Amino acid sequence: MTVDQIVQSYRAGLRLTPETARALYLEAPTSLLGRMADDVRRAKHPEGVVTYIIDRNVNYTNVCVARCKFCAFYRPVGSPEGYTLGFDEIYRKIEETISLGGGQLLLQGGHNPDVPLQWYEDLFRGVKQRYPDFKLHALSPPEIIHISRLSQLTVPDVIQRLIAAGLDSVPGGGAEILVDRVRRILNCYNKATADEWLGVMREAHHAGLRTTATMMYGTVETVEERLEHMFRLRDVQDETGGFTAFIAWSYQPQHTELGGQEATGVDYLRTLAIARLVLDNFDNLQSSWVTQGGKVGQLSLAYGANDMGSVMIEENVVRAAGAEYCMDEFEVVRNIENAGFVPRRRNMHYEILGDPIFRERAVPRMLELAVARAGGAAGESADLRGYAARSAAGRKVRGAE
Ligand code: SF4
Repeated sequence: MTVDQIVQSYRAGLRLTPETARALYLEAPTSLLGRMADDVRRAKHPEGVVTYIIDRNVNYTNVCVARCKFCAFYRPVGSPEGYTLGFDEIYRKIEETISLGGGQLLLQGGHNPDVPLQWYEDLFRGVKQRYPDFKLHALSPPEIIHISRLSQLTVPDVIQRLIAAGLDSVPGGGAEILVDRVRRILNCYNKATADEWLGVMREAHHAGLRTTATMMYGTVETVEERLEHMFRLRDVQDETGGFTAFIAWSYQPQHTELGGQEATGVDYLRTLAIARLVLDNFDNLQSSWVTQGGKVGQLSLAYGANDMGSVMIEENVVRAAGAEYCMDEFEVVRNIENAGFVPRRRNMHYEILGDPIFRERAVPRMLELAVARAGGAAGESADLRGYAARSAAGRKVRGAE
């Protein structure tokens, strides 16, 4: 089929197949892809609203046994630069988030063998006791698999225990590219195969949780593998309807073992647009301004995105790999309005919470993102020492060896 024939059949309501999506992705002019994606965005969100959420991206530990080749954030077990946050530090971060109008933590971290399931349960219960309305968008599928292996419980059992403790939704991190050939090369096959990642999401959806889906592209994958990733997500969404949103970002190469170059802005916009066309059963596509910068982030609103993601208060992971873009709520709103849309605050379920908070009350400007350990101090928190460690280094620190 020619590009024209594919465009006609798509506009007539036929779903893209891997073959037609490939032809569009490789051959359609960028402006045409953008127009098609914008038509879908407009049909799904005719009111001209672009949403965003105020939340804080807290990375509770950087100690990780997975050692993904694209990651500049993790430290091996026993590293003097390793850290695990204390409960009080996390509560303080929540209070700062609330004071900035936020209502949620995006809580993710390394696969630390010395942080047991009980630690997460105690933390979640502690958060809910202190801040009952505050939401926990926490633990990506590979972290849930890691906890399941550590605790020797099944994934559904771990999810149930975390829900009972206060888990509200699951972030779609750790998906990278959901193709095992790519995962093996990136050394992220062992943390979760493509089937395992999708399996955790199915279980989370069956347990009543909503989740997001992500894609990190621009490492070693082919165009066909990017599309395979999208079609696998589309299949699960057909089955469960549990994904709220899709978020694509480009690999950030600085300080990583893999190295290489970052994908271009045009590649990002084409990838976002084709995702909008393939993922016809996803309501929301986020702009990834944290990796692309505000300007491309703003342009993405013409290439299928209807959401500016998070007004981040803290970022550790992509910053470690070189991305340093920062926009506070004022800047996010300025970009949305300047692109001709109405900015509205939302929660993780994409329910509208209201207008920009800075128009309702005074909030401080944030011109720099916070980091997990502002003072640079590493090490375990004192309260983690109350739990049994698994690694030799952890047992030594906790005096159990
Ligand atoms: S990406 Fe996550 S799982 Fe992989 S090494 Fe980094 S912290 Fe660990």
